[in-house]
Amino acid sequence: MNILVVGGAGYIGSHTAKTLKKAGHIPVVFDNLSTGHRWAVRWGPLVEADLADKSAILQAIRDYQIEAVIHFAAHAYVGESMQYPARYFRNNVANMLNLLEALHESNIQHMVFSSSCTTYGIPERVPIREDFPQLAISPYGESKLMGEKMLKWFGECYGMGWVALRYFNASGADPEGEIGEVHDPETHLIPLVIDAALGRRPPVKIFGTDYPTPDGTAIRDYIHVMDLADAHLRALQYLLEGGQSTAFNLGTGHGNSVREVIAAVERVGGCRVPAEAAPRRAGDPPALVADPSKAHKVLGWEARYQDINQVVETAWRFVESRKR
Ligand code: UDP
Repeated sequence: MNILVVGGAGYIGSHTAKTLKKAGHIPVVFDNLSTGHRWAVRWGPLVEADLADKSAILQAIRDYQIEAVIHFAAHAYVGESMQYPARYFRNNVANMLNLLEALHESNIQHMVFSSSCTTYGIPERVPIREDFPQLAISPYGESKLMGEKMLKWFGECYGMGWVALRYFNASGADPEGEIGEVHDPETHLIPLVIDAALGRRPPVKIFGTDYPTPDGTAIRDYIHVMDLADAHLRALQYLLEGGQSTAFNLGTGHGNSVREVIAAVERVGGCRVPAEAAPRRAGDPPALVADPSKAHKVLGWEARYQDINQVVETAWRFVESRKR
């Protein structure tokens, strides 16, 4: 099938494009390259255009006879969203609405959407199930929740089939080393720790050492990007087979603290990572861990990378190969 991969030049989108290609599909990447990379589009054509331009979406759908859509394109920094909320609602909500309208006008009935565990805000407990309250605490989280709601209503009103995938902490890189995580500026823990280990950045700041967790640092569920890519393929298949529209958590089901991530990088790299305690980052909950059992039951999906060391190994190889 020809699948429009909106935001397919980005981190998770490019890994999914590779997985789609391996499964025999043609990923047609639609990306404005604002944060994505031309070099990451390797498994199908690139339409360089912006979601603000609905006619460009309609044209891409026509030109490539698109049959289904996976939508990754979004701004995705909690901190930035607190500074520039309008930017987040414009891109993540208004532009997504253009996409949804274009799909409806083109009679496309299948849509997989990148949502986020951020939609849960500060959960009362972990692991988090899909039916927990979604009480986002940032414009970013709220914008993803609004995306889910738009999908729900396009489903109710027009019969569009959708799956929202709520990612926990996407991490790692293609084990074949072709693509990986490159953000500018980089704010994510694992690439920052690897760069610090390689002496390419100042010591890592540990944001918060007084959380109510065993070692005092925040706990996240680090889910490998190839596992995420696999879940998109399964979600698409599920929709094509007539599966009901719904949302799934995508995580490993267990968490690692910031200190455990640093220790994993030290093990993989065989070196010390310079790190220093710093205040908590605004809006960071103490622990976010998925209950991924629904995705397992319904999609037959399970994280293959269960061990933080394996996740870090793939990330390390990619970071090293790029900077040599
Ligand atoms: N973190 C940290 N130092 C950093 C970057 C992140 O201590 O330089 C912590 C952050 O507070 C969070 C975890 O690492 O608890 C993961 O953060 P990241 O930004 O990678 O992902 P997020 O959880 O914000 O999506």
